[in-house]
Amino acid sequence: MTNRRNFLKTTALATAGVAFQSFHSKSDETEVEINSGKTNKPIVLSTWNFGLQANEAAWEVLKNKGRALDAVEAGVKIPEGDPNERSVGYGGRPDRDGRVTLDACIMDEFSNIGSVACLEHIKHPISVARMVMEKTPHVMLVGEGALQFAIAQGFKKENLLVEASEKEWKEWLKTSEYLPKANIENHDTIGMIALDAQGNLSGACTTSGMAFKMHGRVGDSPIIGAGLYVDNEIGAATATGHGEEVIRITGCHLVVELMRQGKSPQKACEEAVMRIVKLTQNRGKNLKDIQVGFIALNKKGEFGSYCVQGGFNYAVHDVTGNKLIDANYFLK
Ligand code: ASP
Repeated sequence: MTNRRNFLKTTALATAGVAFQSFHSKSDETEVEINSGKTNKPIVLSTWNFGLQANEAAWEVLKNKGRALDAVEAGVKIPEGDPNERSVGYGGRPDRDGRVTLDACIMDEFSNIGSVACLEHIKHPISVARMVMEKTPHVMLVGEGALQFAIAQGFKKENLLVEASEKEWKEWLKTSEYLPKANIENHDTIGMIALDAQGNLSGACTTSGMAFKMHGRVGDSPIIGAGLYVDNEIGAATATGHGEEVIRITGCHLVVELMRQGKSPQKACEEAVMRIVKLTQNRGKNLKDIQVGFIALNKKGEFGSYCVQGGFNYAVHDVTGNKLIDANYFLK
């Protein structure tokens, strides 16, 4: 039931610019109260506007009281399988040698982890990462070994290079200038974190990485602690943007540790971004060339986000619906 007390709290939070916007469903059973001791669950967050569609798939699992792990896998498989999404999975832009190499990782409420890096020819690297987690004594497989494992598990080997990406790569070959730019649409990642009806957290992260990267380059997205981290006692975080900068600060582990120290998800993301800002400046690099965005969720279902510069958005689905939010940023 909506009441004025909660409405006032909502308004106060909105006025304070806090990215926490969730509130009430029609049924008392799933009512959510902000900051009232009740948990806002289930809830799922994911990076960029393709997160909206991905969240819908995750929500199908979450609304039926499914496990967050199943939700995040189902969610990120949407952009992975879409040939028009040119930064994730099938349709992803190739490396400088024309090879589509994919990175992904997954983490559940028990701190089980699985990851693949530089995986070719498999449309859904996130599902291979999950199998690494569930069916091997290891946590990470790369390159040819990851492909062999996937095929042995029954995944189909296919050509992931779509015509549009091939055309772009051939165009790029004319100059062969490799310069990852902030917010230029030649890279992106879907990172997704969810809290299920049972109060458990999981996350998934998957990408084709930087377009026209050196063959063998691996970013933050398949690195547990960098592109994704989940601690079922505290919260979860995932990242997008220049992977090298996220790895430099072990970004998502840092965000979760800051939440452990009592910071809100919003403040934790801000502090992690400020660490990147400081290190970039200390290293004499230009901050304008860098984009990194974090999203974070805690055990209460509160969430937040922050990035280096404008242009990053993320999608949030809870009992009130699915919405896209522009993240706040440092470089104004
Ligand atoms: N983080 C990804 C990588 O560095 C790319 C991105 O999210 O834009 O591979």
